[in-house]
Amino acid sequence: MPATTPGMICGHHHLYSSLARGMPAPPVAPTDFLSILQQVWWRLDVALDLEMIYWSAKLGAMEALMSGTTGIIDHHESPSAIEGSLDVIAQACQEVGVRVICSYGVTDRHGPDGAKRGLQENERFIRAGGHGMVGVHAAFTCSDELLQQSADLAHDLGVGVHIHVAEGANDSDAGRRLEHLAQDDWLLVHCVHLDRQLKGTIAHNPRSNMNNGVGYAFPARATNKVILGTDGIGADMLEEMRLAYVAGRAHDLTITPLIAQDWIKNSYHFMPECKSDSVTWNYDSVESPWHTAFTPGIRALEITSSSGEKLLTDGRPVRVDLDETRAKAAESARKLFALL
Ligand SMILES: [Zn+2]
Repeated sequence: MPATTPGMICGHHHLYSSLARGMPAPPVAPTDFLSILQQVWWRLDVALDLEMIYWSAKLGAMEALMSGTTGIIDHHESPSAIEGSLDVIAQACQEVGVRVICSYGVTDRHGPDGAKRGLQENERFIRAGGHGMVGVHAAFTCSDELLQQSADLAHDLGVGVHIHVAEGANDSDAGRRLEHLAQDDWLLVHCVHLDRQLKGTIAHNPRSNMNNGVGYAFPARATNKVILGTDGIGADMLEEMRLAYVAGRAHDLTITPLIAQDWIKNSYHFMPECKSDSVTWNYDSVESPWHTAFTPGIRALEITSSSGEKLLTDGRPVRVDLDETRAKAAESARKLFALL
C-alpha cells in the first residue's frame, strides 16, 4: 500500500539555476568558493532575460512537483532583468501548481542603481500581493547601508529577510554585520562559518555545501530552528534529507535520520498550506526516517492539492506537458549558453 504524506517544501532554492546543468565550463577553473561564484553563477545570472527565467522556473517547479515538493522558498538574482522577474517566477510556479515564496537577492555588485532596483523589485512584488520575503545576496557583497535598507524594507512590509550567511570563509564577518539587524522571521542560508548566534531560521543545504567545498555547517548544534534547502540543485527533499543525514554522520555518529526528518518538517512554519497537499509515493515506508535514509529513488506518484485538484498523476505533471516543457527549457538553455 503506497504511503501518503503532505507536500514537501524546499527551504532554499534558486529556480533560475535550473538551466545551468550542462553549461559550458568556465574560462578559468574555480579553486575556491568565491571563484565558483565569479566563474559560474555570476556569469550565468547576468546573462538571464525574463524568458530564460520563465523556462528555468517552470522546469524547476515541474521537477519539484515530480519529487513530491509542493512548496519552494526561492532566492532569485538576474541583474540584467530585475523588474518583473519575481512575477515571472511566481507565474511559472502557478502554472505548474507549486507554491512559491519569492525574493530578489539585492547586492552592491552592480552599483547603487542595481541595489536600488533590487530593493524595488522586492517591494513592488510584495506590495502587489505576492508571497515574498526581502532577498539579500550576502553580507559580503552588500554595504552596511544596503543591509540596513533591506532590514528596514522587510520590517515595513511585515516579512522576513532571505539571505546567504557565512556560506564561505570569505563571509565569516556576516555574524558581526547582521547581529543587530536579524529578526526571528529571517531565513539564514548556510551559516557554515557563522561565529555567533543570529535570530532566524537556518536553511541547511548539505549537497551544495559539499559541491562548493565550503565545509560542514553542524546544523544539529544550532539552537535555531533548521530547515533543508537544495540551493538550486533540484528540489528532491527526500534526497536532500538522505544527504543531510549522511553528511551529519560523516562528522558526528550520534546524528540520526529523525533529526533530518525534523528539518524537513520545520519548513511547514513558512508554508503551512503545503501540509494540506497530499502526496502518494511509490514506497510504503516513506514516513519512517530509518527507511527513507537508506532507500534511494523514492518518487511521487500522485499529488492532490489542498483544493482537491490533481497536480501529478502516474508521476507526471497534470497542468503542464512534461516533454514540451523540457524541450522549451532546453531551447532556452541553448540561448543562455551562447551568451556565456
Ligand atoms: Zn543559495
